[in-house]
Amino acid sequence: MNIFSGRKMVIATMHGKEQVIAPAVASALEVFPFVPKGLDTDQFGTFTGEIERKYSPLETARIKCEAAMNLTDCDMAIASEGSFGPHPLLFFAACNEEWVLLVDRKNRIEITGRKLSTDTNYDYRICYNVTDLLDFAAKSCFPKHGLILRKSKSNSDLIFKGIIEQEELIEKFMFIYEKYGQVFVETDMRALYNPKRMQVIAEATSDLVDKATSFCKKCRMPGFGITASNPGLICSLCGMPTKSILSHIWSCNNCGHSEEKISLHKTAEDPMYCDICNP
Ligand SMILES: [Zn+2]
Ligand SMILES: [Zn+2]
Repeated sequence: MNIFSGRKMVIATMHGKEQVIAPAVASALEVFPFVPKGLDTDQFGTFTGEIERKYSPLETARIKCEAAMNLTDCDMAIASEGSFGPHPLLFFAACNEEWVLLVDRKNRIEITGRKLSTDTNYDYRICYNVTDLLDFAAKSCFPKHGLILRKSKSNSDLIFKGIIEQEELIEKFMFIYEKYGQVFVETDMRALYNPKRMQVIAEATSDLVDKATSFCKKCRMPGFGITASNPGLICSLCGMPTKSILSHIWSCNNCGHSEEKISLHKTAEDPMYCDICNP
């Protein structure tokens, strides 16, 4: 039974995320997705900091869903929220974390999807000349990916967003440079101007769809998925537990039921990853 089938679903976005979210949910959940008119998601925070995000990404996605449902009188919504910064485990690597949240008011359930990716162009730099600017642009996958120019990170009095043409980039750069003697250049992380981010949102949506089509044995609601994992996979040489994943915890967001399932992709770990055999 698909409790979503045949229903409308509002996508709380103003930056084109429906490009990847709509086809995925329409085919897997048999819903009719649409984008609302007049929803300002920037009021809940912008990457450029003119409006500071007050809540966690997941809470922000929930606030966007609520706003979209209230605006359209639709009882089901989906929203995503991303963050960028240094990778939690890999030094020097930038990463993009995306959360996608589905809120079903009628059935009072929420389903989440998440993806952490290092395939991001997230970066920024202060430039003093056009050579520096074009060097940064080339490293940032411009012009396929948009750029933003302003005086400094903390000053948005004069800001140009969504630049995707070299002529415009140089022209706007000179305009700010002549006024302030420096230009803060950064990658535009809004989904519409950032294909790499759009791809991470697609992957987070795919994670959500997997959960939305996986059912809890106990309450029979969708949203049953992996929420944690346990290390301890046995080393094939010495037989001692390693840090590699032995099992996953699957849990239901609706009733709280959980199960531990042994990871099936490997029965033993290569001694290369064993702290005893390969310290
Ligand atoms: Zn070992
Ligand atoms: Zn359940």
